[in-house]
Formats: sequence, C-alpha cells, structure tokens
Amino acid sequence: MPEPVTHSHGYAAMEAGGKLQPFDFERRAPGAKDVVLEILFCGICHSDLHLVGNDWGWSRYPMVPGHEIIGRVTAVGTDVKSFKPGDLAGIGCMVDSCGECPPCEAQEENFCQKGFTGTYGAMERDGKRPTYGGYSNNYVVREEFALRVPDNLDPAAAAPLLCAGITTYAPLRRYNAGPGTTVGVIGLGGLGHMAMKLAKAMGARTVLFTTSESKCDAARVLGADDIVLSTNPQQMKSHAASCDLIIDTVSAPHDIGAELQLLKAKGVLVLVGLPSEPSPLASSSLVMGQKTLTGSMIGGTSETQEMLDFCGQHNITADVEVIPIQAVNEAYNRMLKSDVKYRFVIDLASLKEPAVA
Ligand code: NAP
Ligand code: ZN
Repeated sequence: MPEPVTHSHGYAAMEAGGKLQPFDFERRAPGAKDVVLEILFCGICHSDLHLVGNDWGWSRYPMVPGHEIIGRVTAVGTDVKSFKPGDLAGIGCMVDSCGECPPCEAQEENFCQKGFTGTYGAMERDGKRPTYGGYSNNYVVREEFALRVPDNLDPAAAAPLLCAGITTYAPLRRYNAGPGTTVGVIGLGGLGHMAMKLAKAMGARTVLFTTSESKCDAARVLGADDIVLSTNPQQMKSHAASCDLIIDTVSAPHDIGAELQLLKAKGVLVLVGLPSEPSPLASSSLVMGQKTLTGSMIGGTSETQEMLDFCGQHNITADVEVIPIQAVNEAYNRMLKSDVKYRFVIDLASLKEPAVA
C-alpha cells in the first residue's frame, strides 16, 4: 500500500534564480503530534530572494519559499494539546529540531546542536522528503513549532512577525533597548521597519539610517525620532558616537566600519542582514571605543511566542502590501530595488486563480 501523504500545491523555483511557477508536491501525512494548517498569508522575506538565487550556496530545488506563515488549523493529531481546528497559528523559519540537546531543551531550537529543520529548503528529520515553504496552500508541522497568534492582530499584517519580527525583537531585548537608550536601525525594509516599531514600543529613542530619500517621511510615522540619509557624509558625521545599539538589516554588501562610527563607546552593532559577500573591517573601528560587533539569527520558539504576545499587547504588526501569488516574481524585482513599504505578503486565496505567464 502506498504511504499516505498530504497533497499540496504552491509556487516553486525550479533552479537557481528561476522564476517562481505553479508546483504540485507532497508533504508528510499528519501524525499524532502534528498540526495541519490551511495557509492564509505568507510574507516575502529577503532571505527567500537569497535562497531562490542560491546566494549562500546551499539551496535545494525545486524550492517553495516562505517562512512567515499564518494559517487556520484544519486538523490536529491525537497527542496535540494546544491547538484545535479553527485556531489561527503561525510558522516561522523552523519546523523541527532534535529536541534533546541543551539549546533545544531551553527552547532555543535555532541553536540545535544537530541543526534545526528549516521551513523550506531542508530535509524532514526522517530524511524522506524535502521541506517546502509557505507560498503554498497547506503545512503539516509539529505542535511545538506552531505559534499562537494573538486574535487582535490582522492576520496578513501579522505574518511578517514570524521572521522579521523575531529577528529584530531578539537582539533588541538581548541588548536592553529601552528608556534612556538610542537604537539605530540600518535599512528600512521588512526587518528594519519591524526593528523601528519594536524599539519604539520598548521605550527606546530610535534613529533610522536609510539609503532611500523617498522613505524619510514615512519613517517618522513608524516612530523614528531621527532620520539620517546614509549616503550623505555630512549627516552621517553629525550622528557619530550617538547610538547605544545598532541593528543592521542591510541585505547587500556595505561599509560596516562606517556604522561602527555611529556607536557610542562600548556600544553594540548587531548584524542581522546576510549579504552574500564578506565586508572588510579595520580592527581600529572596534578597538577605539571598545565596541562590540555581533550577529543574531531569528529566535527560538519560546522567544518567538514572547514576541507575538508583546506585539498583541502593543498592537504591533508589519506595514504590508498584500499581493496575489501571481505577482510574486514582480514583487521580488521590486524588493531588489528596495521598493517596498515595507513587506510584501502573499494572500494564498489567490492560489485558486489561474497562473499568469
Ligand atoms: P528588505 O526588505 O529587502 O530590506 C533590506 C533593506 O536594506 C532595503 O530596504 C534597504 O533599505 C537596505 N539596502 C538594500 N540594499 C542596500 C545597499 N546596497 N546598501 C545599503 N542599504 C541597502 O530585506 P529584509 O527582508 O528586511 O531582510 C534584510 C536582510 O536580513 C536579508 O539579507 C535577509 O536575508 C536577512 N535576514 C536575516 C535573518 C536573521 O535571522 N539574521 C532573518 C531574516 C532575514 P533602505 O532603502 O532604507 O536603505
Ligand atoms: Zn526571513
């Protein structure tokens, strides 16, 4: 008898840099510990573009991207305790991990010593089939990796919290963004605009550093107390040594040394952007002023739930442009030109409509 499976369809890239196109595939049949979602919305993260383009060198095709997933629970396994059909649930960048190592026990599955299972572009832990992401109609996920989405949040606008939200929330919390601190945010895209909103809600003073003059006015609405056009050397100079903490969300190679000059002594620069090329750095830019340069990668399930609850309490969601799946390739082109305010979110109801060439 053939093994039972879940039939799915979505949009996939068939090769590196390929256009996304309709694709039918199979997920595992739900087990006792699984939750099944009908996907409602999925955000487009710049990591999707990096992975479709094989920018990091380890992409697997066919690839159905998408790790900012909001869906409605349609079925739960017999062991599932915290979800029932009809609930709203979210899935971020991880769908499984070993569950046994110290980071997993601390619900920091993003540091699983055996490697977490990515929502797409990975292999299921039993090695039987690849994982496919949220540009699709459904998902089968272990209960522990399904997150509760506060009811007061608009589901389309909440989708980006599952990656852009947690990726910026985690370092803001870790490095104590709050009253009396000045937080700089570099780049006003999906991650950057979430960093602005979250830092503001935590009580910090916020400064946006952007290369796009067109975003300066809108940034104030997002809570920027100060806005700096980073292509203007004068403006950069006048903000030297002004930030306690900087979150760098830039997706392309850029000058990290120039950003370190914006830090006060003992300040912290956190890289979350993942350009494919390395950036050179002079030791003196860290030595002078005893500055810390670090990175941060998403967050574990516990902290992701904490972030969602924080956003529920403070009514924080992303500013989104909702698109049908048929517009996904155009959205990718616009993101490469930094032309999005501030996150594209795919309405998966559009999967039922015909594809366009
Ligand atoms: P995005 O929406 O495309 O935003 C990136 C922003 O970077 C742009 O809007 C632009 O802001 C700025 N930028 C782009 N090219 C630039 C350049 N050449 N020089 C200076 N600034 C430039 O991307 P995103 O979805 O926020 O993702 C940002 C990065 O974070 C990506 O590399 C992604 O892979 C990575 N990421 C990391 C994690 C993690 O766990 N660490 C999680 C998710 C994503 P302005 O127009 O304001 O200048
Ligand atoms: Zn992402």
